[in-house]
Amino acid sequence: MAKRGVKDIKPEYDCVVIGAGLGGLTCANRLARAGHSVLLLEQHTQLGGLAAWFRRKGHIFDVALHGFPYGMVKTCRKYWNQDIAGRIVQLKDIRFDNPQFQLATTYDRDDFTRILTERFGVAGDTVERFFDHTRAMTFVDDASQTTRELFQEFFPGQDAVWRLLMEPITYANGSTLDDPAVSYSIVFSNFMSRGVFTFVGGTDLIIRLMEEELERNGVEVRTRALAERILVEEGRVAGVAVNGREIKCRSVVSNANLRTTTLDMLEPSALSPEFRERADKVRINNSSCQVYMGVREGEAIPHVGDLIFMSTAEKFDAELMLSKNVTSRTFSIYYPESRPGSGRYTIVSSTNARYSDWAELDAAAYARDKAALAQDTLKALERYIPDIRGKLDHLEVATPRTFRRYTLHEGGSSFGTKFEGLTVSRGLSGQAAGLFHTGSVAIIMSGWLGAANYGVIVANDADRYLRETAGVMRGEG
Ligand SMILES: Cc1cc2nc3c(=O)[nH]c(=O)nc-3n(C[C@H](O)[C@H](O)[C@H](O)COP(=O)(O)OP(=O)(O)OC[C@H]3O[C@@H](n4cnc5c(N)ncnc54)[C@H](O)[C@@H]3O)c2cc1C
Repeated sequence: MAKRGVKDIKPEYDCVVIGAGLGGLTCANRLARAGHSVLLLEQHTQLGGLAAWFRRKGHIFDVALHGFPYGMVKTCRKYWNQDIAGRIVQLKDIRFDNPQFQLATTYDRDDFTRILTERFGVAGDTVERFFDHTRAMTFVDDASQTTRELFQEFFPGQDAVWRLLMEPITYANGSTLDDPAVSYSIVFSNFMSRGVFTFVGGTDLIIRLMEEELERNGVEVRTRALAERILVEEGRVAGVAVNGREIKCRSVVSNANLRTTTLDMLEPSALSPEFRERADKVRINNSSCQVYMGVREGEAIPHVGDLIFMSTAEKFDAELMLSKNVTSRTFSIYYPESRPGSGRYTIVSSTNARYSDWAELDAAAYARDKAALAQDTLKALERYIPDIRGKLDHLEVATPRTFRRYTLHEGGSSFGTKFEGLTVSRGLSGQAAGLFHTGSVAIIMSGWLGAANYGVIVANDADRYLRETAGVMRGEG
């Protein structure tokens, strides 16, 4: 179990990782396996960041476990362990319900090819070319083409096709038709490789297994440890100020929000004025509202699908999906099999949301708007489970304010930053030697898979730096 606070930690580590989101956790684990001494600091009482869970009345609610691509199996096997990787299973019943179409799919390339050709009448070779084109894109590719331009090229004027291809990705990471096509293509292709996957046992189990692995690899993990400042001396990392105490280190990897890392945790003099200006221009991605519903012990609900993308909007519209006047939501249904032995059903409804719509409400207005969202959600859910109200014994709403409170993310951002965040995140080490950032940026580095994989990429950078400078630091070079 991670200890709280920093009272009895060592005065010096090779690397301090700030933040125990999936990026920070994976990075810390990899660095420790590479032989470095690593201190992992988390300001909250729980590890996982947005990969969070909470307990109410015997229920355990998963906050961000709706689905991720198959690639997570390889990432977990290679950078965590087989026990974690072996608990990943497919969600086979993904449903769409909107005024343009209703359908069920396994959400993979074969099934989407069938739907696009048979249901939407798209030529088979166009579908093949689209899949091959999107799969070939990587994050170093030219980002000037937008997703709108990409769709226009392959499916001109085909609204319903755009909706099928885009709506789940907008739910998944807040990206819009005006974001770079590369960010859409990478995330879409990741899902299309085999479908949508989840962990059996829930987020609490996965994070516990990760914590045990960190312990085996010797990572010093501390919760309730707020990193206040990153210390830079003569152009290189010197340490971290945490809970009012200074810890020395040669390298820092921040998993905190990119804007907070660059604009708040570093002295302005640590960055060139041009770089600071670039960091200041990085846009935060949107946030979410969620409604958590717990079905009373002993009650059951029918199988209505694993994930339901439902919308009453006439057409796909990313702006409308952010509106407080909700037209679109995703229902994740957690059947007892998702938590073997629990016998419980829980349902989580998610909608994309703007922080600004919730930030300034006083207590009464905040409570009123949360209650309205809960009632509106129940009304929408009755379409699939007519007697749901009588079966629930818990109903709770989270807003962008909730996400901000628990993770300190500016704007309660659920998916980091827009695309321009990537060059700032990658460029930090050019500003102060030994300084790195990992975690949700640029859409492609977000989500369970994106954040974990970015943790590995950055761990490799930090490992290289620590090895190259080991002798120099000891005065041998
Ligand atoms: C409602 C919701 C649903 C989602 N659903 C899915 C999904 O179904 N599938 C999917 O793939 N992704 C989903 N995501 C996204 C996914 O959960 C995130 O992209 C991913 O978990 C982010 O990981 P991260 O490494 O960026 O770190 P984060 O999770 O953002 O964690 C950062 C950590 O840093 C800590 N921290 C910040 N500042 C400091 C400091 N100064 N000192 C110490 N610690 C600090 C925070 O407390 C936090 O623990 C969802 C997100 C949300 C909000």
